[in-house]
Amino acid sequence: MDDIFLDKNENPFDIPESIKYQLLEYIKNTAMNRYPEKGLPHLLEKIGNFLGLNGENIIAGNGSDELLNLIIGNAKGDIVINTPTFEMYSFYAKNFDYNTINIPLNDDFSIDTDSILSKKNAKLIILCSPNNPTGNIIKRSDIEKVLSMNIPTILDCAYLDFSGEDYIDLIDDYDNLIILRTFSKAFSMAGFRVGYGIANESMAKKLRGKQSPFYLNLLSSKMAEIMLDNYSIVQEHVKYIIDERERVYRNIKDLSYPSHANFLLLKEDIYDYMRKNGVYVRKLPFMENKSRLTIGKREENDIAIKLIEDYIQSRE
Ligand code: PMP
Repeated sequence: MDDIFLDKNENPFDIPESIKYQLLEYIKNTAMNRYPEKGLPHLLEKIGNFLGLNGENIIAGNGSDELLNLIIGNAKGDIVINTPTFEMYSFYAKNFDYNTINIPLNDDFSIDTDSILSKKNAKLIILCSPNNPTGNIIKRSDIEKVLSMNIPTILDCAYLDFSGEDYIDLIDDYDNLIILRTFSKAFSMAGFRVGYGIANESMAKKLRGKQSPFYLNLLSSKMAEIMLDNYSIVQEHVKYIIDERERVYRNIKDLSYPSHANFLLLKEDIYDYMRKNGVYVRKLPFMENKSRLTIGKREENDIAIKLIEDYIQSRE
């Protein structure tokens, strides 16, 4: 049997072939010797309209990773992160020689707002909701407390589609807020590398001004547009993944925390055990005794559930 990869929080569904053909048509009819439209205003407008905003509120990049790199690179000082969280935040900060202030999450994985509020000299705060790898969402009131500090704040919502919790309206009240989202997860486009940020017009404009003119290639930007036109497929896949997440959780509750994302945080490091049995889960460098399981297709999840049930039984 082939190995099963439940380690990178990818969408288990590829883009359907009928939709891939739309990209092929585009390739056939498009001059590849020309640069993309400078600044990709068409894509920004399309993303903006999808969200009920306009292109002026949007910045896009080569994955939200690139936008993290851009925003962190411009922080020019201490960066507050809430650990454990997505490890690329500290990776980029280190690349730029900026200090990260690691504020440990509370025992229930909520953010420690009082500690954050005490870091008045920070140049950037990064929140992640649902948080990778803990899977929980941050309370809106906690987010607002942090935003009231008036320090530039990234709210990384890479997994938002699996939680239903939307914070977009906050951009009207807080001009220090940049929400990051991605086409990599719910939209099945991890291989294309398209992420975007949402902010009020002046913040978004400031960030766009720091980008190179042709920041995405023709194909990835077109694919993002095509997927926005086919959002019902995304919704179908998201529903499937949420249903599966709840089913997997019910079956392995003893070893798993609940989650609002497309993965479950496991209470033990079962990487070696699962790998021996052909399933890759994620080892967590900053949570030594835990591991993370991405929700896959039903048949993949069945195999993971069986292995984890056996693991739980073998310990009893
Ligand atoms: N933020 C979080 C919390 C993530 O988990 C990831 C990817 N694993 C990213 C951002 C980066 O996503 P992208 O593929 O858009 O670069």
